[in-house]
Amino acid sequence: MFKNKLGKLVSFAFFLLASIPLQAKEALKVVQLENVTINYHFMDEQSVKKENEINQLTNKAFLSYTKFFGGLPRDKKGVEYSEISIHVRQGKYLGGEADPKLIILSWNNGKTFGFSTWQRILLHELFHLWSAESFRYQDGREHWFNEGFSEFYTFKTAVELGLISSEEMLAVVSSVIGYYSTSSGLGKISMRRAGRTNKLKFENYFLVYGGGWVVAMVLDHDIRKRTNNNKSIDELMRWMYVNFHRDKKLYSLGDITQGLKYTTGIDYSNFMKSFVDGNKILPVSDYLSISDAQWALTFNQKSISNYKILFETLGIKRTL
Ligand SMILES: [Zn+2]
Repeated sequence: MFKNKLGKLVSFAFFLLASIPLQAKEALKVVQLENVTINYHFMDEQSVKKENEINQLTNKAFLSYTKFFGGLPRDKKGVEYSEISIHVRQGKYLGGEADPKLIILSWNNGKTFGFSTWQRILLHELFHLWSAESFRYQDGREHWFNEGFSEFYTFKTAVELGLISSEEMLAVVSSVIGYYSTSSGLGKISMRRAGRTNKLKFENYFLVYGGGWVVAMVLDHDIRKRTNNNKSIDELMRWMYVNFHRDKKLYSLGDITQGLKYTTGIDYSNFMKSFVDGNKILPVSDYLSISDAQWALTFNQKSISNYKILFETLGIKRTL
């Protein structure tokens, strides 16, 4: 279980270590929050002003992910930690990177793909401290899982933390399904093969990131439906966190399929063979009624109880 290092709340007590510029404008600062300690590297003056927002979001997300996985992230040797470095830079493009104990964030106030903001990038990279850095894929063919599932949980967390509304979430996932359905490699190259090399991954970005995200939603919804909402892909994620320490064992598609069977009792090997390892196009509307759910939320509140499972999948909490 996660315990605060000091065993009590140390809410936003800041300890300024050094503000002496390293390079031209780089500044260091250590901040001890309730759930995490952050060693900041601010690369410019505008980034210093983001500190409060980053503190609040990181503190909440770190706690949420720690609870979700049932433990702290682990470093390359398998040792748990609650102290991370964040390098913050204002940049032309939104972007990020994660390594054990390290997040690199390039932010601006724009949106990528019409829906992604720097807050979402930060949530995504923080999620990678667990999925990618604590437990890790054998090779790039599993980026549909590594990236797609991280996106799924990023946005689900954003809804749960109140960063985006229920209606906005449904619009976001419609976009993602649209990007997946119109990606040029769809039906020609499997989402698994599309992630094999960096070159292929960037040529097929929406097939890998969007496709993996769609797979996460479809599986989660299907499992909840078939188990009366008793199981979900959350169990798979925790199973992977417990069983795949990156210093001992890396995962591949077979392990994910086995984990699903073990944690939910459902065999998804044919599903994986067709839609992840194979070129078949996932018939998303057979599984997810996004449009009808949006209509119900907006104009027909009486029928929203029909979408209870979908709302669970997407992190939407409504009085049904
Ligand atoms: Zn990522």
